[in-house]
Amino acid sequence: MTAMKEKTAEDIVLWYTANKRSLPWRDTGNPYHVWISEIMLQQTRIEAVRPKYLSFMQELPSISALAECEDDHLMRLWEGLGYYSRARNLKKCALILVQKYHSQLPISFNELLKLPGIGPYTAGAISSIAFDQAVPAVDGNVLRVLARLFAVKEDVRSDAVRKELLDTINDLYQKIHPSGFFASFNQGLMEIGETVCMPNGVPHCCECPLQNTCRTQKEKLWESIPYRSKLKERKIIHRTLLILRDGDSFLLHKRDETGLLAGLYEFIGIDQFISEKEALKYTEKIGAVPLRISHLPDAKHIFTHLEWHMHAYEIQVEEIEHLNIAGCVSADKKELASLAIPSAFKTYIQWYALRD
Ligand code: SF4
Repeated sequence: MTAMKEKTAEDIVLWYTANKRSLPWRDTGNPYHVWISEIMLQQTRIEAVRPKYLSFMQELPSISALAECEDDHLMRLWEGLGYYSRARNLKKCALILVQKYHSQLPISFNELLKLPGIGPYTAGAISSIAFDQAVPAVDGNVLRVLARLFAVKEDVRSDAVRKELLDTINDLYQKIHPSGFFASFNQGLMEIGETVCMPNGVPHCCECPLQNTCRTQKEKLWESIPYRSKLKERKIIHRTLLILRDGDSFLLHKRDETGLLAGLYEFIGIDQFISEKEALKYTEKIGAVPLRISHLPDAKHIFTHLEWHMHAYEIQVEEIEHLNIAGCVSADKKELASLAIPSAFKTYIQWYALRD
């Protein structure tokens, strides 16, 4: 891998200034906006983040407002974005910022790294974008652009490759200092990865500021770079959901405070496929009186390391509001609107039109 030339870096900054998309969190000069958007954008598409970001900011416009937000309300604001531990870490982090940092984000990469939910990429993004510090921010998009620029043929997930790419950027940072450079350079690399040098299909090399220096473009290697060794296959879990209802009231179970989808509400679930007869028996066992049962459509939800393949039964029961089942609450459609229900259940939420 050769060092990155200062001219190449300048091209990236010029291209970014001329081509950057208008995004609600961009160029606001507010570190809180950078932080929230970067956390929301982890594993989530910009189109999905945009409306959630706007409503989040409307309700929680500052670090102190986030620190004071009720957990259930925060989960509700996060609904649809998935990976709810991100929201829990945001609140933990906001509480620390209020207590120890005068409700401000620290400028330093190393200080940022000490905070919950902030890893090297996010610390680099906040430090460089919000405070123009000379710190790299290398996410999957940037990794792809750099791997293609230098035609890196090894696995881009390997620590050695990451280190080499980070060293290349850090070397460049030693030579170049104009104000605003680091914020624009890092965002330029991200923007090239998101809009020009995309992961699927042919990259738009003729629109790319790196087209004259990029080795992948010269050698037509974009199908094989970036190279990634195969990940382990996801575990498949078969689940049966029991959707207990009494008219417009539904029974919801609150998940444990740790682990997958911690603290969120769900329909009662059993980690195996069961028959109609077994579902009725289970319903009686937890203390409800079933009246009718019917099948609902199957659904599938994919997490990073596992998949839920779901069968579901709707079970009409007697007097749902008098049921006393540990960890469960009954809620009508209006009350359901205030509960955080993960998108894993969206097939059934939509089936009953439980959300706007
Ligand atoms: S020239 Fe093409 S392959 Fe190289 S970084 Fe740009 S878009 Fe990607």
